[in-house]
Amino acid sequence: SEAINQPAPPLDTAAGAPDLFSRFDPLIQMRADLLASGVEDPFGLVMERVCSPTVAICNGRETILLGTYNYMGMTFDPDVIEAGRQALTDFGSGTTGSRVLNGTYLGHKQVEQALCDFYDMQHAMVFSTGYQANLGIISTIAGKGDYIVLDIDSHASIWDGCKMGDAEVVPFRHNDIEAMEKRLKRIPEGAGKLVVLEGVYSMLGDIAPLRQMIAVAKANGAMVLVDEAHSMGFIGPNGRGVAEDQGVLDQVDFVIGTFSKSVGTVGGFCVSNHPKFEILRLVCRPYVFTASLPPSVVATAYTSIRKLMHAGNKRAHLWENSRTLHKGLKDAGFQLGTQEPQSAIISVIMPDLERGAAMWEALLHEGLYVNLARPPATPANMTLLRCSLCAEHSAEQVGQIIGMFERAGKATGII
Ligand code: PMP
Repeated sequence: SEAINQPAPPLDTAAGAPDLFSRFDPLIQMRADLLASGVEDPFGLVMERVCSPTVAICNGRETILLGTYNYMGMTFDPDVIEAGRQALTDFGSGTTGSRVLNGTYLGHKQVEQALCDFYDMQHAMVFSTGYQANLGIISTIAGKGDYIVLDIDSHASIWDGCKMGDAEVVPFRHNDIEAMEKRLKRIPEGAGKLVVLEGVYSMLGDIAPLRQMIAVAKANGAMVLVDEAHSMGFIGPNGRGVAEDQGVLDQVDFVIGTFSKSVGTVGGFCVSNHPKFEILRLVCRPYVFTASLPPSVVATAYTSIRKLMHAGNKRAHLWENSRTLHKGLKDAGFQLGTQEPQSAIISVIMPDLERGAAMWEALLHEGLYVNLARPPATPANMTLLRCSLCAEHSAEQVGQIIGMFERAGKATGII
């Protein structure tokens, strides 16, 4: 790790061409400066042991986890673990192949059926990650001559999906319904239109006004894709996400989701009622040209999704946790990403990267792990300490967390 923290001297190549890595010099310098201040590397933490969805051992210290996206705490569910164990025994460690060749096992079909049941939709397609689901679906359905209208704060996987395809890409200001409408109205007649939105925006933990936005999209003839990565399992009466909560799920053409958050394993998916949806299995490159998920992973996902269909009590407790933490941090004097809690993400706004990193480290020494987020992942160049709550956090843990924030905030001069 020493070597990557030092700015490298320029490399003399034979033909005098620049070292291709010179483009990273500003970032290397920034990282070196940050670490020179003596702060622990906020992007190099190791979980030495994981005790539960909410506690791990980091640097030999018991640490409360508040930055994991493990919203429903399914990673240690005994049924989920047993399903994975059984599949590992029965089907082996991996499929060693694409879904369209040798990589579709019974478990892949079962997890797709579980998704159809969970969302009450006709079709489900499982990818190896949520990142690939966005990459694949967006780049495949919007092609040459089409237009993608998307929120400027969209996740990297959405942007990369746009970049990989041939459609024109038109961003609009975050959650700005009028700006979105203006962009839609400027699209030439006859062009295909796809509006891409997220249920929860993971940096500030705010939700989208999907009801109004989808109405505008539909009035302008656009298809709608909503990424519900951070809401699945938690938001909405059945945990189907923000679109369900706002009563517009039947207007959404494509829901994108992930197994790496509430579901508690890894993988991604798209569900849809589009009658021609199944053709995507043959033309979507990030689906075809990669190996399918291991049998143990689809078995854990299947079991977890089935259990999340009946997790109303856990959802209620997670809302309770979110409200308690939001109020506790606000009362302590922290500046938060939202006025009211809107999801299981509570984002604490830091004055700058240096003080954000110092606060992050002070929290770690208190025994609390949160995510440090910085540009370019964050909007408006903000440095954020992002807290994501879990349904398995006890009320007592949430109380401890607030105390840790108060002590660390005072020690670093942030409150
Ligand atoms: N969409 C959004 C909004 C996300 O936040 C993420 C992951 N942070 C993804 C997609 C990608 O999910 P995965 O981890 O399954 O690749």
